Amino acid sequence: MLIYATDHFVLPLPPGHRFPMAKYARLRERVTAIAPGRMREPPAATDAELVRAHDPAYVTAVTSGTLDERAMRRIGFPWSPAMVARSRRSTGATIAACRSALEYGCGVNLAGGTHHAHRHFGEGFCVFNDAAVAARAMQAEGLAARVLVVDLDVHQGDGTAAIVGDDPTIHTLSIHGRNNFPFRKQSSRQDVELDDGTGDAAYLAALHAALPLALQASRPDLAIYLAGADPYVGDRLGRLALSKAGLASRDGYVLETLRSADVPVAIAMAGGYAENIDDVVDIHFATVRLALHGSARAGRARLSTCFPTTPSSSPTRARSPG
Ligand SMILES: [Zn+2]
Repeated sequence: MLIYATDHFVLPLPPGHRFPMAKYARLRERVTAIAPGRMREPPAATDAELVRAHDPAYVTAVTSGTLDERAMRRIGFPWSPAMVARSRRSTGATIAACRSALEYGCGVNLAGGTHHAHRHFGEGFCVFNDAAVAARAMQAEGLAARVLVVDLDVHQGDGTAAIVGDDPTIHTLSIHGRNNFPFRKQSSRQDVELDDGTGDAAYLAALHAALPLALQASRPDLAIYLAGADPYVGDRLGRLALSKAGLASRDGYVLETLRSADVPVAIAMAGGYAENIDDVVDIHFATVRLALHGSARAGRARLSTCFPTTPSSSPTRARSPG
């Protein structure tokens, strides 16, 4: 299992910007400490890869810095050559994580999950849609015919749903807050909408009902899992109320269910906006550690898929209530 980091490609942001750029370096430091031999720098996504999910004119406008002010405001980042480089690397990291998944059973992008990017525009801190680009890359290269996107970021994967449309070979499952951004939702193949304040038990019940259906309907060769940290109770943008233990149970269930079905999985981190950035890093780190333990435990007997430890045995560092 290989792990791709892109935090060296820093996105220049004005002081006070609410995008938590610092989480990526902290997460990479903690993951490197437990898995130094697995860390890799991904290649940048190419134009040919990007235009499988995006309008060529949009890719050109992003690259050349000719998006208008309104389009940039919608993305939420100021344009710079470094922003373009960062966005291409982050997308390339999910493509690379998919390659790792298909080879070793699992792969991780320590960024990514930019699911609000649509075919013709970016939105909500998302420039390119890494999951859609990566799914189409694997299909174009003949590495996977059918892909399942399991989007458990607290916000709907509207961009992915819109790009994929009615393509029967890419199944999108999104479990998200009903009252949260984006306020105009798209139709994923499977949407599960949760009320404000939903806690661990109700969330996990919804997930346990939805994921087996998604697997049954999609019969995927590959899954891309957006393991957002923003359903966390302490998230400023989340509106749900999951604990760190609940999020670890979520990850354990997803990885174990995919393993049981013999489906390789690429994991992207997606959102996380807790007041204390260490909470976000804790949650992402727990996801990666679970995937790593799975690979180690699988050993020679079963290298084909992730094999998580029992979710309840996965310790979380409780740094805040819940
Ligand atoms: Zn989110």
